[in-house]
Amino acid sequence: MTEKAERPIPLPRDTRAFVCAQCGAVSQRPDGICQVQGRLIRGDWCGTNSIEPARGCENRIHNLRFKCEKCGRVAVESELLCEPEKMPEP
Ligand SMILES: [Zn+2]
Ligand SMILES: [Zn+2]
Repeated sequence: MTEKAERPIPLPRDTRAFVCAQCGAVSQRPDGICQVQGRLIRGDWCGTNSIEPARGCENRIHNLRFKCEKCGRVAVESELLCEPEKMPEP
């Protein structure tokens, strides 16, 4: 038996989330990110490769975040990603 890191079950692809205009991170709560740019559905970001490198929050509002190992997307909640990996805090 192998011990695997506990992975949350990813939310459905039509789950709505807010995206940060500053750093491109997504969160289910508008107060989870520093500058709300708009709303996306999960299928719009996770599963497609990110063109931008994963970044920390410039305003340090949401320092605790996860990066998707598969597509490089960043989210505040791990269940918004398909292969979440905790990012080091700045
Ligand atoms: Zn992904
Ligand atoms: Zn931000």
